[in-house]
Amino acid sequence: MSTETDMGAECDVIVVGAGFSGMYQLHRLREAGFRVHAFDTAAEVGGTWYWNRYPGARVDIESTHYSYSFDEDLQQVWDWSERYAAQPEILSYARHVADRFDLRRDISFSTRVESLDWDEANQTWTVRTAPAEASGASPASDGAGIRDARTVAGTPAEPANGTASCAAEAGRTWTARFVVLATGCLSVPQRPRIPGMEDFAGELYSTADWPHEGVDLSGRRVAVVGTGSSGIQTITAIAEQTAELRIFQRTPNFAIPAHNRTLTAEERAAVKADYARIRAADRASGLGFATHDGTGPLPADAPAEVARELDERWARGGLGYSRAYTDVMTNPEANEVLAEYARARIRERVSDPELAELLSPRTYPLASKRMCVDTGYFEVYDLDHVHLHDASTHAIERFTETGVRAGGEDFDVDVIVLATGFDAMTGAITSIDITAGGETLAQKWAHGPRTYLGLMTAGFPNLLTITGPQSPSVLTNMMVSIEYHVDWITRLLTTMRERGLTRVEARAEAEDDWVRVNNDIAGASLMPQGASWYMGANIPGKERVFMPFAGGSHTYIGLVEGYTSANHHGFRFADEAGAQRPAGAA
Ligand code: FAD
Ligand code: NAP
Repeated sequence: MSTETDMGAECDVIVVGAGFSGMYQLHRLREAGFRVHAFDTAAEVGGTWYWNRYPGARVDIESTHYSYSFDEDLQQVWDWSERYAAQPEILSYARHVADRFDLRRDISFSTRVESLDWDEANQTWTVRTAPAEASGASPASDGAGIRDARTVAGTPAEPANGTASCAAEAGRTWTARFVVLATGCLSVPQRPRIPGMEDFAGELYSTADWPHEGVDLSGRRVAVVGTGSSGIQTITAIAEQTAELRIFQRTPNFAIPAHNRTLTAEERAAVKADYARIRAADRASGLGFATHDGTGPLPADAPAEVARELDERWARGGLGYSRAYTDVMTNPEANEVLAEYARARIRERVSDPELAELLSPRTYPLASKRMCVDTGYFEVYDLDHVHLHDASTHAIERFTETGVRAGGEDFDVDVIVLATGFDAMTGAITSIDITAGGETLAQKWAHGPRTYLGLMTAGFPNLLTITGPQSPSVLTNMMVSIEYHVDWITRLLTTMRERGLTRVEARAEAEDDWVRVNNDIAGASLMPQGASWYMGANIPGKERVFMPFAGGSHTYIGLVEGYTSANHHGFRFADEAGAQRPAGAA
């Protein structure tokens, strides 16, 4: 923990977050000669892969694609053991990167950034930090609910656990010329306010904050609430060991088989020899990982040909399934063909037809909610001790001392696991009290995020966001989106330094245009038809706006590069004396 760092007012850049975004941003800016410091609520690097330690947690993008591309030696040295690596291996990778580039000396862990205030007179951000509770805490066994190490939006972290380093930094303020938010799109867990949570006398866990020491579920009666990716992975991993497993499903999900397996030495060597091509293809793709993208719309009169194509994609596995045809996300009939094919696979995998139907998504277009990648999920329902509860018709009413009451019935369990998702994309940003010119960012975004290119928001100078809302982010292989944003931000700050510029701000009219472009692209697709976290639909009271840029990663990068080379179109620059000056191209 680099608690000795004292940057005072002389910090060029503060980075909030030390997941894959913050780690790479710290490295690049430091390499470029900036004085930079990072903070994370977590006690270690890794972000998502530090927090989400639930059984079965693993990537849904192949690891040879979901990894940094910026350093050739790193690519050559690191060996991925499986096609889809599991959480412990990904966290080891993050730690390896931190060691390799000596990142920890400029990161304050267990420290939460509480507020950011723009100081117009000094043209700096004032950054207030507070100690965060030690993470990886065991769940409260007294029924008081889950201790939240990282703060649910709007709820302050519990007081520090008294470590010297935390105490030394308590209430500390820092100043910086620039702030980069690397706070993550899926980093604020959504804990539903289910009545009686505090009454439950058993153990209550959240997948997004799983105890570091693990949980032995063998021979126990377990309830899982939620069947998104986290729920599906957890359920599959724990089903065999539990005495009874009761799954509370409100909405079923589409899941494509992973066909996960160990990578052979020959396969790893072949990937290493081919990394340059693989990375270039990923960057040129719509999803940030090269798939065999279909080249035309689904043919209406060729069912045998379509079946062959979908069979092949299913056999290959993974999220590329939805890219079979160019109109899957715009034409309801084409989408339904892929959806029905996926439902037919569920019927093959689940013996009981009624259960298979209950597990079959029918209420939203395929891929309008994030699809899952599974390894034996549906087969779990053939086990006698696994029970599916339809929480859409028999809603969870409350937790009781002994379990869950739903649809008027009581279900006694020893353990409840919440796999209930995140306040996605904006949650981590708006839970920081960010103020500039008398306005808070939370107020500005009350009716949905407003950004220019997902990188900046007008009225908040020198504040940059990695994979912010209205950038492709969560619709892509995040590693590609993260690296692109970090490289772009580094290029921006370097250009400004070279040209004597100290202030950058998004122009309001450029932001208006970008918000419109985002809404138009999403509106022309089937994406907004799913009540998804992409829409904010999982958070009570959150404005329903489709948040990620839905035009594809390659299109986005092309647009940003175009604006950047057109003298940074849409941005306004000034020098230290406050004089507005053009930045020129970069
Ligand atoms: P994060 O990893 O979320 O890191 C953000 C960090 O910021 C956190 O450590 C958090 O503690 C810290 N932070 C936030 N606010 C503050 C604050 N105010 N003060 C201090 N620190 C703060 N994406 C893929 O592309 N492929 C996958 O297979 C994939 N699998 C996923 C599996 C799970 C279980 C989850 C939840 C997400 C997955 N994602 C996946 C998305 C994943 O979040 C990104 O791939 C990536 O890890 C994001 O990195 P990040 O650094 O931007 O954010
Ligand atoms: P999620 O997709 O939002 O799923 C949350 C689940 O909880 C949904 O099934 C939701 O039902 C249910 N739920 C929420 N509140 C409920 C309540 N009060 N009662 C009953 N059910 C409730 O969250 P997630 O599974 O954590 O995944 C979030 C994202 O993280 C993924 O989409 C993915 O991008 C990423 N992720 C990836 C992987 C991976 O495979 N690599 C693994 C985990 C997460 P409704 O659908 O009805 O709202």
